[in-house]
Amino acid sequence: MPQRVHNNGRSLSIKVDIDTCTACQLCYDRLPSVFVDRGDGIPLVMVKVPVEEVYEELLQVAEDCPSNSIILAWTG
Ligand code: SF4
Repeated sequence: MPQRVHNNGRSLSIKVDIDTCTACQLCYDRLPSVFVDRGDGIPLVMVKVPVEEVYEELLQVAEDCPSNSIILAWTG
């Protein structure tokens, strides 16, 4: 399930495709305030800070994910 984060009337959906994720650890090593190892290397999305504080890094981590498994989408 994607996690939705609200900001200025918009909603950011953050989702990890666990079917393509290779459990490389990059996302939770680089951004532990958004991603958490669920115990088997696959990340859970758990946003612990206002998303605007980490948005630029979140975009970079999504781009750097080797299997393009981090899916970001703004709605609203
Ligand atoms: S960076 Fe991508 S491939 Fe690596 S653990 Fe995170 S979602 Fe999975």
